[in-house]
Amino acid sequence: MSATSTSLETRLKAQAFGLGFDLAGICSLGPADTAEEFDQWLTRGFAGTMEYLPRGREKRCDSRLPLPGAASAIVVALNYGGREPSGPVARYARGDDYHDVMLERLRALHGWVAAEVGRPVHGKPYVDTGPLLERDLARRAGLGWFGKNTNLINPSLGSFFFLGSLLVELELTPDAPFEADRCGSCTRCLEACPTDAFAGPRVLDATRCISYLTIELKGAMPVELREPIGDRLYGCDVCQDVCPWNERFSQRLPDESRFVPRAAIGKKDARALARELLAMTDEDFRHSFSGSAMKRAKLRGLKRNAAVVLGNVGTTDDAPILEHALGDAEPLVREHAAWALARIGA
Ligand code: SF4
Ligand code: SF4
Repeated sequence: MSATSTSLETRLKAQAFGLGFDLAGICSLGPADTAEEFDQWLTRGFAGTMEYLPRGREKRCDSRLPLPGAASAIVVALNYGGREPSGPVARYARGDDYHDVMLERLRALHGWVAAEVGRPVHGKPYVDTGPLLERDLARRAGLGWFGKNTNLINPSLGSFFFLGSLLVELELTPDAPFEADRCGSCTRCLEACPTDAFAGPRVLDATRCISYLTIELKGAMPVELREPIGDRLYGCDVCQDVCPWNERFSQRLPDESRFVPRAAIGKKDARALARELLAMTDEDFRHSFSGSAMKRAKLRGLKRNAAVVLGNVGTTDDAPILEHALGDAEPLVREHAAWALARIGA
């Protein structure tokens, strides 16, 4: 079949797969189906200190607003290796920063569309980089349904993937939205959460979620949630790990993937990694985590997390490194180190 007899939509998706994306779909822009749930979620205070969420509320609830003139979204997903072993760092954060990887490819896709239609195309790629409800767009583009764990689940890939969108001015023919709910009577994710963070199916109280506590929260962790965090140093995969769709369909990372763990993480266990983080200088941190998603928590946040982990899984052998942290310049680190020392009985 010649290029001209194949629709632009089909060629666009083929190009997305050629760029390495695992899923691609198209939707038109408009009011979000989940706007009401999003508002209720904000009203209940479940966004915690993530103030950018209510601030961008209007735009998040109508995907025509973030980029005036845009009419369609090409929504893509990229596997980050749900079949890889679990560990103290959530799988998505072990390698290069997904924002960089996804944006590079979406920019390449944008360039391809412009070349294909023979003129500049007004558009912009988004990867958690603007006020868009990307899961909502992904469902509209047919990529999957919202699991009770709030992740988008695809019936042939599970949920261990990143989402990104390229908004364009073109009026593309949309794919059929994903209407089915394939969770059925399953409640595994709701029961498995270590911190009881689900207020109900598809309702996450982020202020109790380990991903929020170890990454987004900049201050002290609530004392009652420190123990259930266990050995999780950065993020949490529990409610995805227990999902039958991931047990069956999640995939390994290709060898050349940029999400392969970097040397600073490797296959280290939680205790070894926590000790190393607590001993790190700012310069060590820049050297080891440049271009990594883990930079988001900053060194003070990672040291805070490391202290909590040692308080949970450490022994008196870890007392010297925690005592050293009592002299840290950051009061946040000092307080969590003192908590950990008390926990390990040192
Ligand atoms: S990521 Fe972890 S802490 Fe957050 S809801 Fe899922 S299981 Fe609970
Ligand atoms: S664990 Fe069960 S309820 Fe939760 S998202 Fe997966 S299928 Fe849905």
